[in-house]
Amino acid sequence: MLTVEDALGLILDHAQPLAPAVIPTIAALGCVLAEKITSDIDSPPHDKAIVDGYALIAADIRSPNIELQVLEEVTAGEVPTKTVEPGTATRIMTGAPLPRAADAVVMVEHTQSYGDKVRIQQPLVKSGQNIMRRASSLARGQTVLSAGKLVRGIELGLLAEVGRAAVSIVPRPRVAVLVTGNELVESSTFPLPGQIRNSNGDLLHGLVEQAGGIASQLGIACDNEEDLTSLIGEGLSSDVLVLSGGVSAGVLDLVPATLQKLGVQQLFHKVNLKPGKPLWYGVKISAAGSKTLVFGLPGNPVSSLVCFELFVRPTIQKMRGLPPTGLARRRARLIIDHQQRGDRPTYWPAALCENEVKPLPWKGSGDLRTLADANCLAFFPAGERMYRASEEVEVLLFD
Ligand code: AMP
Ligand code: MG
Repeated sequence: MLTVEDALGLILDHAQPLAPAVIPTIAALGCVLAEKITSDIDSPPHDKAIVDGYALIAADIRSPNIELQVLEEVTAGEVPTKTVEPGTATRIMTGAPLPRAADAVVMVEHTQSYGDKVRIQQPLVKSGQNIMRRASSLARGQTVLSAGKLVRGIELGLLAEVGRAAVSIVPRPRVAVLVTGNELVESSTFPLPGQIRNSNGDLLHGLVEQAGGIASQLGIACDNEEDLTSLIGEGLSSDVLVLSGGVSAGVLDLVPATLQKLGVQQLFHKVNLKPGKPLWYGVKISAAGSKTLVFGLPGNPVSSLVCFELFVRPTIQKMRGLPPTGLARRRARLIIDHQQRGDRPTYWPAALCENEVKPLPWKGSGDLRTLADANCLAFFPAGERMYRASEEVEVLLFD
C-alpha cells in the first residue's frame, strides 16, 4: 500500500496550474496573479497634505503665535493657484496638493483663524511636516505586485490604484462533487429506515470552497452502473471530480470499475492511513486534451474529510498556482495520554489551544459531530503505543 507521501507525490505529478485567463479585477479575489503588475501613475500624484490645516514655509515659524496672511483654500480634488510667499499660508485639506514653495503643513488644531489671517500657535515647524511626497508610496513604472501573488482585498485595492480593471490570473479549479450510495437522501428530507442523510455533499462543497476551488454538486448517484456512468460523465467536464463512497470492498462499491470504463486511468487505490484507506485516484484525458483529476473518497464523512485535507487541498492549491503545502502544520504538546492503536498512521481529531493539544473522544470515521469541536488533526505514526501527556506530536491545523 502507498504511503501518504508517495500518494501525494503521484497526485501532484498530474496536477498543473491552470492556464492563465484575463478577467475583471473585481472577480480576481482568491486567485493568483499570472502577470507582474506595474504602476501607470505616481502615488501620491503630487506632494500632498496629510492633515487638514495650513500650508506654509517652515522657516517663517520661529516663535509661538506668528500671524500669516491666508491666500486661498484648497480642498481635495482642487489645485492651488497661488505660490506661498514668506508671511503667507494656504488653508489646505487632507489629500490636496501642496501649493508651490510651501514645505510644511500645520494641523488646524494648532492654529487660530480670524478674518483672512491665521495665527500659528506652535513655536516651531519642521520642514516636511504633515506632507506625503509625490511617488513616496509608489512610482510610475514600478512593479507593485509580482506574478504568483494571491489576490486578497488588499491587492484588489492596489490593482484599482494602479488602474487595472482587468488582470491575468490563474483560474480557480472547477471541482465537481458527486456522492454515491443507495442509502443517501437529501438533507431536506427525514430518512426512512435504512436511509441516512447526505452530509458529504455539503461537507465537500464547503471544503472545496475553503480551499479556493469552485464547487458544484452533481447530486446523489445510486449504486448502479447506469446512474454512476451518467453523473460521472457530467463530472468529467470539470477540472477535478471528487466522489464520495463506493470505493471499498462492498458488493455495491462500483465506483472504481465505472471510472475505468469511462476512460479514467487509475493511478492508485488504497493508501496506508487512518481514516481514509480506500482512497482511489485517477486521471482522465479527454479527446480534446483537457484533463480531469478524479478522487474517489471513502464514504464515511471523516474519512472523506481527512482524504480531502491530505490530498485534494494540495491539488487545488497547485492548480491555483500556489505551493501545494496543504494544511499548516506545527508541533504541540499533548495534554492527555493518548493510546495509538493499529498499524496505520492516524490522523485524529483534536483541539489545539496555544501550544497544547487534546485528542477528542472521537467515535470513528462516521462521527462527524465530534469534528465540530476540533480545530486540527493530531498525527500519530503507525505502531501501537501509548503517547503520554506532555509528549510533542505534529498537528495539522484546519482552515
Ligand atoms: P462507502 O464508502 O460507500 O462504503 O460508505 C461508507 C459509510 O459512509 C457508510 O456508512 C455510508 O452510509 C456512509 N456514507 C456514504 N456516503 C455518505 C454521504 N454522502 N454522507 C454521509 N454518509 C455517507
Ligand atoms: Mg456506499
